[in-house]
Amino acid sequence: MDPDFESDKCVCQRPLVSVMCRNCGYRLSNCRKRIKCSEHPNVSYIQDLTECPQCHNSNDYLHEYDSSKSFHARLHTKQQTKTRSY
Ligand SMILES: [Zn+2]
Ligand SMILES: [Zn+2]
Repeated sequence: MDPDFESDKCVCQRPLVSVMCRNCGYRLSNCRKRIKCSEHPNVSYIQDLTECPQCHNSNDYLHEYDSSKSFHARLHTKQQTKTRSY
């Protein structure tokens, strides 16, 4: 009953993540890199970035990362982080 097939096409419901600009290093949380939704191509969201707010390069430079996920990953890979002289 879960409409998984819909969420595959529609990117509007993606959770908010953190975004980092690979060009200038700007970071922003609770936002997303703008991806045109194939279901709703004319819909845009205020939290979706079309460009870096700081250096105004295209969002090709923006890298999405899930800050909460990486936190969990860090807990999970305790040994690895140790060897990284953390
Ligand atoms: Zn959509
Ligand atoms: Zn930037």
